[in-house]
Amino acid sequence: MIISIEKGFPEAGIEHVTAFLQAHNTHYHVANLYGRQVIGFEKELSPALVEELRLMPGVEDVIPVSTPYKFASREWKTEKTSFHVKGEEIGGNELTIIAGPCAIESEEQIFTIAEHLHRSGIKFIRGGAYKPRTSPYSFQGLGLEGLKFIRQAADEFDLRVVTEVIDLNVLDQVYNYSDILQVGSRNMHNYYFLKELGKIDKPVLLKRGMYAKITEWLLSAEYILTGGNERVILCERGIRSFDDSVRNVLDISAIPLVQQLSHLPVFVDPSQGSGIRSLVNPIAAGAVAAGCDGLLIEIHPNPSTALSDGPQSLYLEQFTHLTQKLAPVAMSVGRNLSLKTKIFAK
Ligand code: PEP
Ligand code: MN
Repeated sequence: MIISIEKGFPEAGIEHVTAFLQAHNTHYHVANLYGRQVIGFEKELSPALVEELRLMPGVEDVIPVSTPYKFASREWKTEKTSFHVKGEEIGGNELTIIAGPCAIESEEQIFTIAEHLHRSGIKFIRGGAYKPRTSPYSFQGLGLEGLKFIRQAADEFDLRVVTEVIDLNVLDQVYNYSDILQVGSRNMHNYYFLKELGKIDKPVLLKRGMYAKITEWLLSAEYILTGGNERVILCERGIRSFDDSVRNVLDISAIPLVQQLSHLPVFVDPSQGSGIRSLVNPIAAGAVAAGCDGLLIEIHPNPSTALSDGPQSLYLEQFTHLTQKLAPVAMSVGRNLSLKTKIFAK
């Protein structure tokens, strides 16, 4: 259930409501989301108690929500969530494309990619400075130096930075150098960490855990929302299956399903979602056709030398070609992909 408080009602003025909930042994959470105070709680109260609540000063509505996640649900917030990141809308009519290397490897590498993205009409760059690798012997990322490189490259080429935050120790650093903080698949279940991300005022791109059910993923988003951070992007990146022909099995059905269940934007990562370069383009097109709000794609000037995820990284030209092919696919499902490409203008 969610109690929504009238817009502009004083923050300190809802004690009578919370006292009532406490008296009825309810675990509740107060947040400030989408322009009003809201109180979410798991327990459904009896119709008589709901009537009492409805009559309380400041209470605008009491909304039953049948799913375990409340603030993330579409039952509560029927209109889609959209927001701007440095002038670029996410979750609106425009399809968002985020591309870049799996890992930031050098100043030259990230500047080459940033320039290419700029000339291809792309507005968001990705790249990990802290890499959660399966093996401790694999490249772990350039850390702070990498964050500085991607920020400089992004600023030079009018790009917004999406980069992964792996734990609390580097949260301040990643916050300072990024525009959207990525939470990796391996961290989706790190609930205390997610709570901290609820306190920040930058968007969080939350990858689906590789073993996570849709409900678990949405409950993870709920952890961020309950902290008051309303700018959460969900990103499907494939799940593990019995079949190892692909690295992960991209769950296409998750796109329309999550959009029905939740108001949050749904992105897709076809790179981790397949692990195979030749599959990235068809999967990306499929994801756009299924209605995703954005894509996260790994690209590299020379994938054979990449320090991380080379086999799934697109060559730069391959990527530009893909974006041009995606524009009509986007249009066929009522979306727009406006690429103000400068690639031929040199
Ligand atoms: C990545 O985007 O490079 C990455 C590590 O993703 P995931 O957390 O989905 O594995
Ligand atoms: Mn990767």
